[in-house]
Amino acid sequence: MMTVTGKVAIVTGGTSGIGKGIAVALANAGGKVIVVGLPTEEICVQAAKDISLECGVEVIGHKLDISNEQEVIAFITQMEKEHGQIDILVNNAGIQIIEKFEDFTSEKWHSLLNINLHGSFYMSRECFKIMKKNSFGRVVNIGSVHSFLASTDKAAYVAGKHAVVGLTRTIAIEGGPHNISCNLVAPGFVLTPLVEKQIPERAKLENISEAEVLRSMTQNTIDGEFTTVEEVAEAVLFFASAKSNAYSGQDLIVSHGWNMR
Ligand code: NAD
Repeated sequence: MMTVTGKVAIVTGGTSGIGKGIAVALANAGGKVIVVGLPTEEICVQAAKDISLECGVEVIGHKLDISNEQEVIAFITQMEKEHGQIDILVNNAGIQIIEKFEDFTSEKWHSLLNINLHGSFYMSRECFKIMKKNSFGRVVNIGSVHSFLASTDKAAYVAGKHAVVGLTRTIAIEGGPHNISCNLVAPGFVLTPLVEKQIPERAKLENISEAEVLRSMTQNTIDGEFTTVEEVAEAVLFFASAKSNAYSGQDLIVSHGWNMR
């Protein structure tokens, strides 16, 4: 049985979409879960209450902008004071920006990478210090099929998701001697707010219908299905509950086979 009983887990972007599903899975597996996200403290606290109701255990919610290094440092320091340990970190928060490569402004480029890449770096580095003191840590980074493939109009996202593979392997290597593992879970298309926002944008950019965009998202899977939040959460729980470093540094693609074509 996959259990994280007694472990303190932080899930970034745990207030919606895939992150919320991961928080539910960790809470159901016995973890003390802290979800962080945007845009306000009230929304994050409410999201945590919703997860608590669903799971029947306390879940804590806080606003945190992971792209703000000083905010991350202060927050992790505070969490260590309050909880004494941080055992599991799931770097899930992320955004998407759809834009043709030649029109990609540096402002958009930096705003995406500040969250999807630098935010994961700040969170991992600060939690790593605490995990090292406790000789235990499980870091799971949410990559994407776009950690391994490229698509049009997603330059910053594809670059950032590829970079997270390198970050994962580096943390795995440096964490090994301290019983800190690090893995990448790479989903295919999951129908969350992040993807729902892309549908009209892509339809406009490619001059096709929204139904055609939806079809294109599953046409290369082995069964015509979208990946679900629960399927991604199960893979995260697998790594978060690992008893040893045997799988550390590995990537697990959860995409209904999309990545094979
Ligand atoms: P979502 O939009 O539902 O959730 C994203 C979360 O990130 C939100 O809770 C938001 O508050 C949070 N967030 C955004 N910026 C933040 C910041 N600066 N600081 C803290 N939190 C911030 O999206 P999702 O689809 O659930 O995506 C979650 C992760 O899964 C992302 O890393 C995404 O790239 C990845 N992913 C999603 C899909 C998909 O098809 N949905 C596929 C592959 C990978």
